[in-house]
Amino acid sequence: TFILGIETSCDETAVAIVKNGTEIVSNVVASQIESHKRFGGVVPEIASRHHVEQITVVLEEAFQEADINWEQIDAITVTEGPGLVGALLVGVNAAKALAFGKQKPLVGVHHIAGHIYANRLEKEFAFPLLALIVSGGHTELVLMREHGSYELIGETRDDAAGEAYDKVARMLDLPYPGGPHIDRLATIGEETIDFPRAWLEDGSYDFSFSGLKSSVINKIHNAKQRGETLKAEDIAASFQASVVDVLTTKTLRAAKEFNVKQVIVAGGVAANKGLRTELEAKFSETNIPLLIPPLKLCTDNAAMIAAAGTIAYEQGRRSGLDLNANPSLLLK
Ligand code: ATP
Ligand code: FE
Ligand code: MG
Repeated sequence: TFILGIETSCDETAVAIVKNGTEIVSNVVASQIESHKRFGGVVPEIASRHHVEQITVVLEEAFQEADINWEQIDAITVTEGPGLVGALLVGVNAAKALAFGKQKPLVGVHHIAGHIYANRLEKEFAFPLLALIVSGGHTELVLMREHGSYELIGETRDDAAGEAYDKVARMLDLPYPGGPHIDRLATIGEETIDFPRAWLEDGSYDFSFSGLKSSVINKIHNAKQRGETLKAEDIAASFQASVVDVLTTKTLRAAKEFNVKQVIVAGGVAANKGLRTELEAKFSETNIPLLIPPLKLCTDNAAMIAAAGTIAYEQGRRSGLDLNANPSLLLK
């Protein structure tokens, strides 16, 4: 099968073609980061406008790169949610127009299913599988017993991990998105500050990062009042240590409890070096294989949507031409 994927949920306009759910034929991403940087975050109206301007260009590029024609495409898959509604609508409407014009099946895809399936472009899944999703909007542990089935076993009760990174980065006057900057600083800093770890109730797989964020604000503030300044790299290293400790410990515990055959990591924060290193260290002591996608597949792209969409298509799921963007779509 050749499946077309379209992704416009946030600030990248992306179109890709994937063969058999596992092989990238083309994968084009137009990022808008430069346009949002000076506002310190994604501005929804600007995002939508950029998507409108970029979508046909990116689509054409995806076909050129793939060197295949429309007849060979089996289905059109598109992120229907979650995300920014105005941004999602651009992709959804493009997908509907193409499905109608080219008479192809249409399949709506959950953005996080996409992040999970980015891993299948690297290696075949083994079930049961545990996915740690860490992105700008999500921090979740999802158990998959088979293709296309998602059981949420834990999630954040407040901020997402990526959101916490971006907020702490902002306090340190680092550019948006702040995650990669904190990550870089953390490698040169020392873990001199003792930040809290939010373990929550015994046995819980939920997460919480807002207390940590407040603790970072307080430490910076208190130091200032004493006339001291904390080194940004030490704050970064100490903050990252807390995030990584909780994420890796809970992931390992869940992997053992559910006896999984594979652990995969998904979402933009999967690019984090500290997280990758610690997960690799913890899982190397077990016989559970750990899969972390290459950086290019960690952040938003359409190959991941086509990969998740391939399974949905093979399982017979179809969307009608009344498909709508759903900013709070649940993963199920
Ligand atoms: P969602 O997928 O939940 O809708 P999103 O699409 O904004 O949210 P992604 O594009 O998957 O999220 O990831 C972006 C997030 O990843 C940002 O918060 C960014 O700071 C963070 N991030 C990227 N690289 C790193 C890194 N090396 N360390 C920590 N965080 C990182
Ligand atoms: Fe994403
Ligand atoms: Mg993004």
